[in-house]
Amino acid sequence: MKLNARRIEDLDLKNRRVLVRVDFNCPQDDKGRISDDTRIRAALPTIREILARGGRPVLMSHLGRPKGKVVENLRLAPMGARLAELLGIEVLALKDCIGPEVRAEIEKAPAGAVVLLENVRFHPGDEAGDAAFAKALAANGELFINDAFGSAHRDHASVCGVARELPAAAGRLMEKEIAAFSRVLEHPARPLVAILGGAKVSDKLQVVDNLLDKVDALLVGGGMAYTFLAARGVSTGKSLVQSDQLAHVQAALEKAQQRQIDVLLPSDHVCAANFAESEAAVAVDGEAIPAHLMGLDIGPKTRQRYAACIGGAKTVVWNGPMGVFEWPAFRGGTEAIGRAVASCAGYTVIGGGDSVAAIELLGLADKVKHISTGGGASLELLEGTLLPGIAVLAKS
Ligand code: AMP
Repeated sequence: MKLNARRIEDLDLKNRRVLVRVDFNCPQDDKGRISDDTRIRAALPTIREILARGGRPVLMSHLGRPKGKVVENLRLAPMGARLAELLGIEVLALKDCIGPEVRAEIEKAPAGAVVLLENVRFHPGDEAGDAAFAKALAANGELFINDAFGSAHRDHASVCGVARELPAAAGRLMEKEIAAFSRVLEHPARPLVAILGGAKVSDKLQVVDNLLDKVDALLVGGGMAYTFLAARGVSTGKSLVQSDQLAHVQAALEKAQQRQIDVLLPSDHVCAANFAESEAAVAVDGEAIPAHLMGLDIGPKTRQRYAACIGGAKTVVWNGPMGVFEWPAFRGGTEAIGRAVASCAGYTVIGGGDSVAAIELLGLADKVKHISTGGGASLELLEGTLLPGIAVLAKS
């Protein structure tokens, strides 16, 4: 997974139109205000560097799922306004991303300004990976820099197609993300501990298989833990168990045992009678869950065991909450793990999505060495997949 790609310093940017794929797919509230601008901030080093080297940045991104049509509340203008505030310079947000009018506006843009094209997913050609659409996008620039790690697992026109049309390089965020995951997956300081949680075991089995070739210990929590317990013959009551995955999980547990990898499973639980926020939390001390209950969080003993293992690690990677952390009564396990990761002295990485939301909720994000900006992309890296958006940047 070494970044075998050109970097910004390998391109001569002076006075060139530099098309940059960024990931400005920021969450917005119901009034269209950006509720989290992390992804815009994460792209600043690349944009600043292009400007400092005399390049003319032309940014493109997707936002939401407009499915190939113009959707008014998925325009990128609010992201442009936020970017202008952060950079302290003019950002021209255009009304489309391809065509002669767009090119004319780019030509007219004053030196030192940033151009932001409209949501690339307003055209069906982006998600379809359409070559003609990629060519039309590429016509907006002379060079291409991909800094959208969060979209690197997508074979879309604005991610992969454009890289085939123009001299291409990886941006600084892309470099940083790849370096972080290489440090975990390729040359980790040991012991390397992986923590996996989330709802369904089926979403994470490929990650489990790949990590069992690399980790010293695997800590399992969240809904997926109950299929692991069931595979060991433990009663799991009404908990989320995917029976069709039991054989695969059993095989994974055997592989772990042969390799002497510790797989830690919950030894106590916080349960409820039904899957609802209003349900009372019931403590279950012991592995087995009574028939009328379902496990919705890891219990206090499990938190302690997991935290001790994390505390002794030199490298930690975490993906997925330990319980239904959206509901306060079932948040304690995820909080305890978040605290343990934050106070670990080793190299710590949190994959995107819910575990990032959890660490931010705790106000401990700045204590973690690397927080990924890509949920799906980071999960695919943990699966051992070569991401198409990175592969296409490879130097020939
Ligand atoms: P994922 O998208 O696979 O990372 O799963 C995240 C979701 O898993 C969150 O919305 C959690 O509420 C949910 N989750 C975590 N633990 C459990 C559990 N024990 N039972 C059901 N859902 C869970």
